[in-house]
Amino acid sequence: MAQPVAAASGSPAVAGEELLDALGPVKPRWRRVVLKMSGEALGVTTSSEAISGDTVERIAQEVTVARERFGSELAIVVGGGNIWRGTIGVGAGMDRATSDYMGMLATVINSLALQDAIERHGQPTRVLTAIAMAEIAEPYIRRRAIRHLEKGRVVIFAAGMGNPYFTTDTSAALRAAEIEAEVLLKGTHSGVDGVYSADPRLDPDATRFDELSFSEVVMKDLRAMDMTAITFCKDNNLPILVFDLMVEGNILSAISTGSIGTLIR
Ligand code: UDP
Repeated sequence: MAQPVAAASGSPAVAGEELLDALGPVKPRWRRVVLKMSGEALGVTTSSEAISGDTVERIAQEVTVARERFGSELAIVVGGGNIWRGTIGVGAGMDRATSDYMGMLATVINSLALQDAIERHGQPTRVLTAIAMAEIAEPYIRRRAIRHLEKGRVVIFAAGMGNPYFTTDTSAALRAAEIEAEVLLKGTHSGVDGVYSADPRLDPDATRFDELSFSEVVMKDLRAMDMTAITFCKDNNLPILVFDLMVEGNILSAISTGSIGTLIR
């Protein structure tokens, strides 16, 4: 059974500070962003803990620095795959909707872990859930989310869309459109730093695209995000930046210059 959050093994110096010093004063490329990360990005592969304290700490640190240095308005959507995924229960014979609700609850656990870590850095946050649970988070109300962002709070959207049969990729795309974010930052965790012509872990000739159109992604069936999310972003002119979340400093680069990974628009 999964264990609670693994302790952070001492904070890394100040993640991204060196990169920022090298960049000098930066006017961020994006004014308002939604950062999507998979639950598995927070997971621990080497032990049974559900959440890596080190990873949560590093992300919290970069998010806080991004707020302080760039002033960009920042919302986060985190998945639940490190704890539960709808397909796990379905594979074991469970009712799909029930299993999906379990997945949505898993995203709330991850959201609270991120909230805790970000607030320990002094950055105010609000968790807004699509499933009411008033004791631990605010309900998702679009205008309230925008107000929080305008006040400089980091908003964490939890419980997906509140509807089974969807993923948190699609939830992130929907929330980004609703709050009129300029970009959806899709952080990957599998060591692939963007969108490639083929899986670079299997094909040494695979090449990374710096930029792609939505039509190319759909036509070539490129694996950037859940296809429902891709078509939603296409229909709503919402660019997606796919980048490697696990490289220190990359959240800062994605927000400040946007010149890493693959930009789909
Ligand atoms: N989920 C859902 N509706 C939503 C968002 C998520 O039913 O709007 C469920 C679904 O079962 C999914 C699980 O929550 O498998 C966890 O989300 P996801 O798989 O997107 O997490 P990630 O792969 O990003 O960690």
